Amino acid sequence: MKRFTDSVFADLRYWMIGLGLAAGLVFPLVLLLIGVSPALALRWTTFLGALAAGASIGWLNHRLASKVVRTELQVVVERMREVEEGVREASFNRDWSSCSAEHCTVPVGSDDEIGHTAEAFNALLGEVIHAHKMEAASGALTETLSTKLEIEALCHAAIELVLAQTGATAGCILVREEAELTVAANHGLSDVSRLPGSDHVRRALDTQQLQIVRIPRDIALEGVVTRFKPRQVLVVPVLYEGQALGVVVIASDAMLGKDAMWLVRLFQQVMGLALNNAVTHARLQRIAAIDPLTGVLNRRFGMRRLREEFQGAVRQGTPLGVVMFDIDHFKRVNDTYGHLAGDRVLAETARRAQGVLRESDVLLRYGGEEFVVIVPGAGEGALVAVAERIRLAIAATPVNDGGLEIPVTVSAGIGTLCGREEKEESLLKRADEALYAAKEGGRNRTVCLARTAGTPLEAAPVA
Ligand code: GH3
Ligand code: MG
Ligand code: MG
Repeated sequence: MKRFTDSVFADLRYWMIGLGLAAGLVFPLVLLLIGVSPALALRWTTFLGALAAGASIGWLNHRLASKVVRTELQVVVERMREVEEGVREASFNRDWSSCSAEHCTVPVGSDDEIGHTAEAFNALLGEVIHAHKMEAASGALTETLSTKLEIEALCHAAIELVLAQTGATAGCILVREEAELTVAANHGLSDVSRLPGSDHVRRALDTQQLQIVRIPRDIALEGVVTRFKPRQVLVVPVLYEGQALGVVVIASDAMLGKDAMWLVRLFQQVMGLALNNAVTHARLQRIAAIDPLTGVLNRRFGMRRLREEFQGAVRQGTPLGVVMFDIDHFKRVNDTYGHLAGDRVLAETARRAQGVLRESDVLLRYGGEEFVVIVPGAGEGALVAVAERIRLAIAATPVNDGGLEIPVTVSAGIGTLCGREEKEESLLKRADEALYAAKEGGRNRTVCLARTAGTPLEAAPVA
């Protein structure tokens, strides 16, 4: 249709009035055709009257059409503006809770182009809201996961977030470190200890492909890892640069929709980078904390650990003790068998000491050939027993170094926490004094000094 102005309604007015005038122009000729006398039909007043009537009808028609269509359009436009305002606010506040389908839509009042326009607007808006929600979810995912460096903290935050965002019921994260798969976080799954050996987990790691296990509703779930009846289980490998760092198991009591699957895929990508950072961090922490020659904690991290144990013991009012032991005449070992043999004797000494300790005890290399054991919960008697176990384990058999039998003994001193100490250093000082007394007393023995007199309270017989 030819356009005269930039307003559809102005064009409509011209078209309608023009059509009215045309009708007025042909009206006298119609009169002639139906037998009205030319004198009457072709009179100028007839022409004028017909033109005026035609123009008036055209104008009235235009007014009527404008009124009907405009009112409808205005309702739609006004509502669109309100919705636009709401969307802008939600987008600014990152809160889409008030922008639900009923609040953020335009009513569809007619089955015509105006109604279709409203429908199209609603559909477009739905896509915009959906895109915003997904973007917000992805932002939350990236933000949370990129700020966590500890493996366990990361995995806990990750599983909680992914369950909340996908609507799944339960899940857990298995992390592969040094070829071993361990559960780093679990949220609602039972019997997770069986998961590392599961076929689906193995397949996800081997193929590096997401495994979807669909469980029909009517099938009994004997041996399934969950306490509820899952409908679908996803086993998602966490990948970084072609390496599978672990798997995320997500169980849901309903089938996950398109959005949830999209979020799972996004999570898989973000988690790959985050888990790699956490695993690297843990590895570096381990490297930084471990003495490379003996494989036990180094002095720096050992002292940090002692401080933590000390604070815990003071807080809970529980005993804490240390055993300090030092290889006797180690200089002679070096001088006689060489420095490398000395190194091997050091490593073997640490290994034997570690072998007689409990898991809660902490062995650290305090200096060259001097070690400290932190023994939480131990009083003097228990500490002497620990020291004696170490001493005997080392003195019992010479260290075999390439056929050479190197006899090794250690002397040990005990330090206990008795409530008066203000700092963990006083524990070490007491142990150091006792160790000195053990050396003075002839070596290959354990000494625990009486707190006041500084005289030996208990000295073990030479083995
Ligand atoms: P004592 O019975 O009084 O403890 O005598 P000692 O010879 O063990 O003590 P001293 O302090 O005189 O000598 C300790 C020696 O330990 C000296 C040093 O060279 C050696 N040493 C320290 N660290 C290492 C190490 O990492 N490897 C080796 N092979 N030797 C070490
Ligand atoms: Mg020594
Ligand atoms: Mg020494």
